[in-house]
Amino acid sequence: MKNSPAAVLELEIDCSSVPVDISIPLNFPPLVSCFGIRSMFDEPILSISEGASVNCSKLMITPHAHGTHTECISHISKCETNMSTVQYGAHSLALLIRCEISNRSETNETCPRNSKAIDRVITRNSIEYVMQKYENLKTHINAIMIRTYASDLQFPIDFTNTNPAYFTKEAMSLISEWSDHVLVDLPSIDREDDGGELLAHKAFFNNNTNKLVTELCRFPDSLDEGLYMLTMSLPRWNTDAVPTQPLVSRVKRMSNCIFCKIIQGTIPSFKIYENELTYAFMDIQPLSMGHILVIPKTHAQFFHEVPDENLQDLLPVAKKIASVFHKKGAYNILQNNGRLANQAVDHVHFHIIPKNSEEDGLGVRWNSMKPNMEDLKKLADEIQSKIPA
Ligand SMILES: [Zn+2]
Ligand SMILES: [Zn+2]
Ligand SMILES: [Zn+2]
Repeated sequence: MKNSPAAVLELEIDCSSVPVDISIPLNFPPLVSCFGIRSMFDEPILSISEGASVNCSKLMITPHAHGTHTECISHISKCETNMSTVQYGAHSLALLIRCEISNRSETNETCPRNSKAIDRVITRNSIEYVMQKYENLKTHINAIMIRTYASDLQFPIDFTNTNPAYFTKEAMSLISEWSDHVLVDLPSIDREDDGGELLAHKAFFNNNTNKLVTELCRFPDSLDEGLYMLTMSLPRWNTDAVPTQPLVSRVKRMSNCIFCKIIQGTIPSFKIYENELTYAFMDIQPLSMGHILVIPKTHAQFFHEVPDENLQDLLPVAKKIASVFHKKGAYNILQNNGRLANQAVDHVHFHIIPKNSEEDGLGVRWNSMKPNMEDLKKLADEIQSKIPA
């Protein structure tokens, strides 16, 4: 397991929805088979339909060939560790990525000696390209899930002699640097027939007795790239691999946004109004006394990113607050997007600014242009055509 990272990462876990099961269930007959290992059985010892009081079966399965399974270093070495002694955390922060698959002939990375130019391989290069944007999370990520199939699998599948895609040695070294657990939708991280070299397994385990590989996962189409909370318990079997059922829940990073913290109450504010979706408070650097900020409780940097539901709630709130000032005279409603347009805090906010005199409130510089009416008409048509449905 990783050492506790220096910086604490605050996450929001979506507990409202059921976690997504990324396993291929063990079925009799199997939904998947690999390496020519097809036989498995569920042989009743006692059967209620035969008059016994209970059902009780003897099962024979091969974890590596018949469904989602998790293996440790003892799969490729004589070491003492096995699935009953391996150390692991029941919950870990996992990153799901999708990688480009290249032909063996397009890379100089290390593949088994018997590999062919047309083999499909996942290279360090392609993984590095995807992972660079998660570099700041490197110390926090404990598991990497790699989707290689473009869409959800259709069962049953016999992978035998199909030579599925596999990882180069360099690709697995990189993943090993990042995480203690790799989960893939392939039958193996190595070539189906690699002459026994096991370059990817060796590069990943790297003699580490607590690293885990989960193969034959199934990533439903609903899962997209990003961070997940991975929940898994390992059956304590004294063997090199066990059937497993990894579950994932989407997580979001808590933002460092000061307005989100104001909504949560971790930064104090002079609150004016609050409901389920909207929050309003005094601007502490007001342009005039009574300058108020109205914000959606859902974080969005720009106006066009605010969910409709929030806007539908927010505007009537702003209207009610503005009505207070109308009794006194004039006011402005201001909403800036982007630094160039004077947005200072990256959480959408509507300013309500009372205008009590020429001197206070919002000063507006209004340098109007004199465009050609034909240009203006052309632009109107262009904008009209670009408005999303
Ligand atoms: Zn395996
Ligand atoms: Zn394996
Ligand atoms: Zn925010």
